[in-house]
Amino acid sequence: MLDKSVQFVKGIGPRRAELLRSEAGIETIDDLLYYVPRRYLDRSSFKPIGECAAGDTVTVSGTIARVGIAGRKRRFLEVVIDDGTGKLSGIFFGGIHYLEKAFSTGGVIIFSGKVDYYRTRQMVHPDFDFIDEDSRISSIHAGRIVPLYRSTEKLKSAGFDSRGFRRTIRAVIDEHIEGVGEPLPGELVEKYSLPSLRDALLSIHFPESFEAAERSRRRLAFNELFFLQFYLAINRRRLREDVKKRGGLIDEGAIGRFSAGLPFTPTGDQVRAMDEIRENMNDPFPMNRMLQGDVGSGKTVVAMAAAVMAASRGEQVAVMAPTETLSSQHYHTFTSILGETAPIELLTGSLSKSRKEEIYKRIRDGAAQIVIGTHALIQRDVTFRDLGLIIIDEQHRFGVNQRARLREKGQLPDLLVMTATPIPRSLSLTLYGDLDITVIREKPANRLPVKTYIFPESRLSGVYNSVRKYVAQKRQVYFVLPLIEESEKVDLKSAKAAFESLKNTFPEYSVELLHGRMSQEDKDDVMGRFKNGEVDILVSTTVIEVGVDVPNATVMVVEHAERFGLSQLHQLRGRVGRGAEQSFCALVHPDDIPDEARERLTTLASTDDGFAIAEEDLKLRGAGEITGTRQHGYTDLEFSDLGKDLDLIVAARQEAWSMVDAMENVMEQTSDMEQALLRLPVLEGIRSKRILSILS
Ligand code: ADP
Ligand code: MG
Repeated sequence: MLDKSVQFVKGIGPRRAELLRSEAGIETIDDLLYYVPRRYLDRSSFKPIGECAAGDTVTVSGTIARVGIAGRKRRFLEVVIDDGTGKLSGIFFGGIHYLEKAFSTGGVIIFSGKVDYYRTRQMVHPDFDFIDEDSRISSIHAGRIVPLYRSTEKLKSAGFDSRGFRRTIRAVIDEHIEGVGEPLPGELVEKYSLPSLRDALLSIHFPESFEAAERSRRRLAFNELFFLQFYLAINRRRLREDVKKRGGLIDEGAIGRFSAGLPFTPTGDQVRAMDEIRENMNDPFPMNRMLQGDVGSGKTVVAMAAAVMAASRGEQVAVMAPTETLSSQHYHTFTSILGETAPIELLTGSLSKSRKEEIYKRIRDGAAQIVIGTHALIQRDVTFRDLGLIIIDEQHRFGVNQRARLREKGQLPDLLVMTATPIPRSLSLTLYGDLDITVIREKPANRLPVKTYIFPESRLSGVYNSVRKYVAQKRQVYFVLPLIEESEKVDLKSAKAAFESLKNTFPEYSVELLHGRMSQEDKDDVMGRFKNGEVDILVSTTVIEVGVDVPNATVMVVEHAERFGLSQLHQLRGRVGRGAEQSFCALVHPDDIPDEARERLTTLASTDDGFAIAEEDLKLRGAGEITGTRQHGYTDLEFSDLGKDLDLIVAARQEAWSMVDAMENVMEQTSDMEQALLRLPVLEGIRSKRILSILS
């Protein structure tokens, strides 16, 4: 019944049904039931007009006393209503002739909005609704918390504004809500005190209170998360079904020689990470692990250890990084530490064609054992003889497809993805729920936390003075700006402008510019000279955000810091504080900035804990900010809010995973489970269609 087309709902018909499909993805009655409000207006109590003061946001109702086009150039429509305690004018601009016909004197109407006082009480462009006096109490449009729905111009002109949706959805609920079953086992509903699905669907549209609306949302979120976790559990099981052909045994001697050759002693967390990786790599099924560690926690050495393990049993290793700068940095680190023990190649897009051909050949015949590079690694021409391990650095910079393409170049290769953005637990459990996760919390012992200060632009010259002091001590400095060039659209200082002015301010020092539009050769040249200390001050855009490691750089100045997100600022700041010296970060902002931006900067100045910052960012800006924009999919869950539903995520995960465990006792094959998953009564009514499309 619920999968019947909306075309058969009274008053919809084929034309409007098609519009609902193309504009809002609504095809069935079920889809309408799940078309949840984007927000609500509290119209549960009316305010007498006589008591409304300017600035109040209120709902009033009254009888239309007068409708007329007014204004010096007759530019607006004025609708005066009267509720016996006073009069109020609704003012409308645009489409006024159409509107004029819609309002007729004597009718009863509701206005919601903000009250102004200009000669008389008025509201400009109030939300309005017509009601008849009798239904004033039982109305779906007023006298209660009223749902507002997403709509489009086309939908509105076909009658599907919020009022139209309200009417249609109310009718559908009245007729069909009895057909909504309870998909979850009773014990789960009870255990987590969830409303029934039927109640939840009813009350998410027409809640008695805001609390009731939230309870309903959480119920729908539970369904969604439960299904997602089910899928993740099965997916993980599937990975373990694949038996990987191993080249041989990991050579413990090689690991010992690698550790002995390191210029420092690995931290406890680094050792633990290496141990977990070794264990995974000895498993009969492929490793699927994520290494999370705050900026500067030392993930590269762990990656190197993994590469040594794979190489020691004759497998090839691919290390993919998002930028050429980072790839070549890794190449230098790997070669300087691993030396002659394994042949290493660097493959990036900017190499000459003939050089690339040479490297392709070495990869193909196995002469290249560790291949480090950018997206160039996933080009069609690259074929490995025996790719056993894939390492992806700054993984959030890559899309799901890019990772998959690299994986296809091996026979069930082990996978290690690394990320410097600490990921809040709610995200780890959903977005990365089928990965094993290692977290490096400990920073190398010699580190001092970066001292962070906030300055208004008017004190920039003071900042310059401090910079001068550090440069004189042979320290190196980053200046970061949001734009490469000045633009007419936004009034921001650019990297080029800062570069010019810094050259004048520090004529005795070497100042260089680095940005994304420079050729790779020029970038490498500047970066190389900054690394070996020839450049004192590097002016840059966020191209230095990921991975760059220059321990002698101890000062960072971020101008227009208010333009960056929290996680991004934290990543930027992670470029300093990489050696034993005390490092500093100055966040400079225009003198006048919104409170919210100021708060963000204060948060950053008060903590160096990437996890705390990521949690905060998740609350402020949503999951997309943390995972990078390319991974929308999962983070677009329909009902769940990763910022506040951690308890639900944990519960749904526990229940779903233990259900899959139970299924394991009766089903051999993952594919059988998957079929069973789709048939389970538990999942009836859960929006599996949508989640499956997200997952695929
Ligand atoms: P990230 O986790 O941000 O990728 P890196 O791997 O680039 O960090 O390491 C940051 C810096 O810390 C490098 O200069 C590296 O040589 C150094 N480092 C890593 N581990 C240790 C350690 N255990 N002791 C001292 N320095 C270390
Ligand atoms: Mg790194």
